[in-house]
Amino acid sequence: MGKSRPKAGDGAGPVRTCVACRQEAGKRELIRVVRRPEGGVALDPTGRASGRGAYVHATAECIEVARKRRALDRALGTAVEPAVWSELTRRP
Ligand SMILES: [Zn+2]
Repeated sequence: MGKSRPKAGDGAGPVRTCVACRQEAGKRELIRVVRRPEGGVALDPTGRASGRGAYVHATAECIEVARKRRALDRALGTAVEPAVWSELTRRP
């Protein structure tokens, strides 16, 4: 048996990987978080901010997993502040 994962991005633009569940998804399903060049971490709703970015599903489950495992912190190479997490969890 080979790998048979769905091609999430077929014809639908760039595909990114969620740092929590490691599944690929289209950018619309994910929240981009960037490490800003001047320091700190910020949400990037536009997906266009410069800096090192990481993606997490816009679901409570994936956000919680990313927080518990510090997956975002590791992906960005810096600590994600509590304010950023509360901003993430406040999203619908
Ligand atoms: Zn996920």
